[in-house]
Amino acid sequence: MSGRFWSRRGWVILAETFVLALMVGGEAQGQNTDYSKVQIKVTKVSGNIYMLEGEGGNIAASVGEDGIVIVDDQFAPLAEKIQAALKDLKITDKPVRFVINTHYHGDHTGGNEPFANTGSTVIAQDNVRKRLETGGTAGNGGSLKMEMKAAPKAALPVITFEHDVTVHLNGEDIRALHFPAGHTDGDAVIFFPKNNVVHMGDDFVRYGFPFIDVASGGSVQGMIDAMEKASAMLPANVKVIPGHGALSNLDDVREFVKMLKETSAAVQKALDEHKTLEQMKQEKILEPWKKWSGGFIDSDKFIETLYNSLTGSKGQFMKHN
Ligand SMILES: [Zn+2]
Repeated sequence: MSGRFWSRRGWVILAETFVLALMVGGEAQGQNTDYSKVQIKVTKVSGNIYMLEGEGGNIAASVGEDGIVIVDDQFAPLAEKIQAALKDLKITDKPVRFVINTHYHGDHTGGNEPFANTGSTVIAQDNVRKRLETGGTAGNGGSLKMEMKAAPKAALPVITFEHDVTVHLNGEDIRALHFPAGHTDGDAVIFFPKNNVVHMGDDFVRYGFPFIDVASGGSVQGMIDAMEKASAMLPANVKVIPGHGALSNLDDVREFVKMLKETSAAVQKALDEHKTLEQMKQEKILEPWKKWSGGFIDSDKFIETLYNSLTGSKGQFMKHN
C-alpha cells in the first residue's frame, strides 16, 4: 500500500481493497486484488536490513548468515513471492526462521499460515494471538467496521510475549517492544539497533489520517505515546519503516505525531463545548488538517475515530499491561 496508495484516482478502489483485505483477515482474498500481478519490491535500508513492499503492510527483513527474520508477512498468496524475493538477494540459502507480527490485522499477518507451514516460527504480542484466534470486529468505533474471521491454528503465533522479546540473529539483537492501546492493543515496534532501523507497525503510516482500531483496543493517545516513546529511544538518523508507505525518518514521525496531537485537541475542545459528533462533522473541525484526509480515513472518519477514542468508546477491550 505505498506508491499506488497516493494516486488520487486509485484512492477509492485501493481503500476498498484495504478494507476488504482487513475483513477477510488474509484468508479468502481475491475478489478485488489479483495477487498474481503483485510484485515484491525490495529496497536495501541499511546493512543487512531490507524493506519489502507488495500488497499490504511493509515488511522488514534481516537477511544474513544465520538466516532470515521478517517483520510482518502481508497476504497468504504472496508468501512464495516474498520467499523468492529474499532468496534472490543471494545472501543466504537459509529460510525465514522467524516472523514477527507488529499487530493482528490481516494485511500484516495474512502470510503467517504459509510461512509457518514452511518452517518459520511466528512471534507476536499476547493480544495478537488472542485476536487472531477469536476473530471479532475491527473498526473506528463508528462507521468503519470490519469483521475479522478467526485465523486457522497454523496462523497463530507460537511464541508470544507480554512486554518485549529479543531475537538474536545475524549479529543483531532484534527487539520487539509492546506499546499498549495505539493502533490496536497488541502493537509492537521492532528495533534493529546495530543497523539503526526501526519498523513502527501501523502506529506510524503514510497514507494520511491513520486507521486507529478503537474496536480492538486502539486509542489516539496510545498511538501518540507509542510514537513519542519509541522516537525518544532512537538515534536522530534512524531509518524508519512505516506500517504503510515510503521509508521515512524521525522528522516524518514528528510531523505525524504533531497532527495527531492537534487534531485530538480540536476534537477535545469541541467535546468540552458539548458539541455532538454530527456538529463536529458539519462544522468540518478538521479542515486545517485536510491534507491528511484520504480515501480510507477521510476527515469525517477521523473525527469519529477521535471522538470514540477520547470519549472512551473503545469497543471490546482486552486485558494487557
Ligand atoms: Zn493495521
